[in-house]
Amino acid sequence: MKKLIAGNWKMNGNLGQAEELVSSIAAKIQEQPSIIDSYEFLICPPFLYMPAIKDICAKHGIVFGAQDCSVHEAGAYTGEISAQMIADCGGTYVILGHSERRQYHGETSQLVAQKATAAHGAGLVAVICVGETESDRDAGKENEIVGAQLQASLPEGANAENTVIAYEPVWAIGTGKTASSDDVANMHSFICAQLKEQLADSKNLRILYGGSMKPENAHALLSTPHVDGGLIGGASLKAEQFIGIAVAAEEG
Ligand code: PEP
Repeated sequence: MKKLIAGNWKMNGNLGQAEELVSSIAAKIQEQPSIIDSYEFLICPPFLYMPAIKDICAKHGIVFGAQDCSVHEAGAYTGEISAQMIADCGGTYVILGHSERRQYHGETSQLVAQKATAAHGAGLVAVICVGETESDRDAGKENEIVGAQLQASLPEGANAENTVIAYEPVWAIGTGKTASSDDVANMHSFICAQLKEQLADSKNLRILYGGSMKPENAHALLSTPHVDGGLIGGASLKAEQFIGIAVAAEEG
């Protein structure tokens, strides 16, 4: 199974920079074409830039998707983007329940599950994010919190083909702090065990780690048991770092 290296560009850049970044990512892959044998690269730009990266992604075996979608299929929902619209633009993945959506938009795990159902209905793979805050971890509640998020955020019918889990400790996102390999190993094996109990078939369901991943820590994080890839924010905005994460993980 290939590891998934997923870039979340968030609300950064402009059209020209989006085109330039995807071209640089493609060029980096071309320098080392064998990297594609072990890694799948996913880019999630702002919605509006998806059409601008589509052709170059297709040409270089990069997949792309969105950072959110509506729970609704269509209708009077001003400002919303449906899962089908993402699919129409060539997207195949959608990130759901990112901690920034949970924090700034009040998204609950129940809403995330509804969005995941909408994503699955449109044929998209849902990357469902879970993770504890620093105070949850200080209180020793990380398994309880992540377990409850998983329980409520995964819709019926979630499986390895249509769902990826991203474990992102909130305190590690954009802070330069990462969880230790031991903490990541413990959490990923907890998630793995819970998915086994919760889903009819959780075999091969990928579990990503996210939170300040960069080339310098990629090998340690990506060689941790049950870590099937990374969800990358800041370092996904520089081609050298984004592809460098896979290269560093490979080379050790
Ligand atoms: C993220 O926002 O999902 C993320 C992991 O960000 P960063 O890599 O910048 O910590």
